[in-house]
Amino acid sequence: MSADAQTTPSSSERAVLAEVPTRLLIGGSWRAASGGATLGVEDPATTEELVQVADATAQDALAALAAAAGAQAAWGAHAPRERGEVLRRAYEAIVAQADRLALLMTLEMGKALEESRAEIAYAAEFFRWFAEEAVRVHGRYMVNTTGSGRILTMRQPVGPCVFVTPWNFPMAMGTRKIAPAIAAGCTMVVKPAKQTPLSMLALAKILEEAGLPAGVLNVVTASSAGRVIAPLLEDPRTRKLSFTGSTEVGRTLIEQSAKQILRVSMELGGNAPFLVFEDADLDAAVDGAMLAKMRNVGEACTAANRFHVHESLAQEFSRRLAERMGALKVGRGTEPGVDVGPLIDEDQRTKVSELVGDAVDRGARVLLGGAAGLGPADRPQAALRGYFFQPTVLADVPDDARLLREEIFGPVAPVATFASDEQALEAANRTEYGLVAYVYTRDLQRALRVCEGIETGMVGLNQGVVSNPAAPFGGVKQSGFGREGGFEGIGEYLETKYVAVAL
Ligand code: NAP
Repeated sequence: MSADAQTTPSSSERAVLAEVPTRLLIGGSWRAASGGATLGVEDPATTEELVQVADATAQDALAALAAAAGAQAAWGAHAPRERGEVLRRAYEAIVAQADRLALLMTLEMGKALEESRAEIAYAAEFFRWFAEEAVRVHGRYMVNTTGSGRILTMRQPVGPCVFVTPWNFPMAMGTRKIAPAIAAGCTMVVKPAKQTPLSMLALAKILEEAGLPAGVLNVVTASSAGRVIAPLLEDPRTRKLSFTGSTEVGRTLIEQSAKQILRVSMELGGNAPFLVFEDADLDAAVDGAMLAKMRNVGEACTAANRFHVHESLAQEFSRRLAERMGALKVGRGTEPGVDVGPLIDEDQRTKVSELVGDAVDRGARVLLGGAAGLGPADRPQAALRGYFFQPTVLADVPDDARLLREEIFGPVAPVATFASDEQALEAANRTEYGLVAYVYTRDLQRALRVCEGIETGMVGLNQGVVSNPAAPFGGVKQSGFGREGGFEGIGEYLETKYVAVAL
């Protein structure tokens, strides 16, 4: 640990924190909350407060919506090329400031710096992709079936949007919504998670500097999400809600959106199965498992939640996975060499501990870890008070263990076995979630059969990461609806209008 890093935040960290706006962005001005209240942002590795940001009231949220509604007509009429160019300039600024933004993200969210850099690159790519899509919105002209008239379709911006984003990818979950909305000509109010508002505030400043007109993007940070979001969903000026977060909160927001019949996109929880068939390339499967499980400390909706491995390979797969996960260094994400940061908060750590305890009580064997805190190899940093959980591998996990059904959101890999393809597919689909699945096999016919039979919006075939700005990201079943990224992504922000033309 460097001398500078022994007191936290260090002086270089304080310098990065000092540059971030901490007020609400409403109609192009940075304002304190109307009640003057603030909300503390904590470093999950140390539990120390980093900074205070404005704690918005319902009145602030409505002011933000008024600004978005006021800017809508002009922004919708803005030249697509210019909308794209704002995104392109913001993309370049994010890339140029990646180190500073990564440090900020690690400070508020905990993950290792390398992971934050990867998220910044991923987040920026949505701006580049949708900068290119902004000029490719088109309609249709066709002769109707009787030949007596013409069918004209045009695509127009949906209107002011409300975005609610989670803490696990503090920037990318925002850019996946903000970029297509800007490209399509929509204005918006964004509410980031209370644990990680800083990355979104930094992003808003970048967009402002890139020339985004006042009122197009408004940001409200708040300690009580319900207090600021519910009034926005009741207001007829709001035309769309896009939410990324838990299925439980998503369900509530769908209900609230029914009143105004809002257009709704829902990116919700996951319970991804990772299937390793008997003909799989085991080296590739273990590499993929490391990515699918350990990316973002396991706190990803796409995280492999459960490993179903053919019984002929399960022992060797589990041994190798435990060896690789055991070699990871746990610690404060800002420190060199750290691979695994803390979990986001005590609630999350308690949940992970309970799920592991339940599996062990039901007969699972602990091959690695299994407890809160830093691992034996990480003792020099033992003074850290944050929400750490040891990388954990559990073997012989029985079917009734809660962690096979519930989203773990932590660095825990439960391994169960199967004997036939039918059993594997049945186990994979035994969940109300349907976001992503990972499939390892070298048999093309089996691969296609399983990909077709699996009930998810995405499949990683012989690869452990599916996220890609050029691809349609999203789930089925209780993982939600709507797609972010790809050609589909901008469609979430466009209405189709049909004009029947008489000749
Ligand atoms: P969460 O508790 O559902 O919170 C997500 C966001 O919703 C936060 O901004 C939160 O605000 C807000 N929120 C909470 N209650 C609300 C309410 N009553 N009304 C309006 N907004 C409300 O989820 P999380 O724990 O932050 O994130 C983890 C979950 O997100 C996991 O289930 C994960 O799978 C899912 N996720 C899904 C995707 C995907 O693309 N499918 C991607 C990433 C994450 P506060 O911060 O103030 O609580």
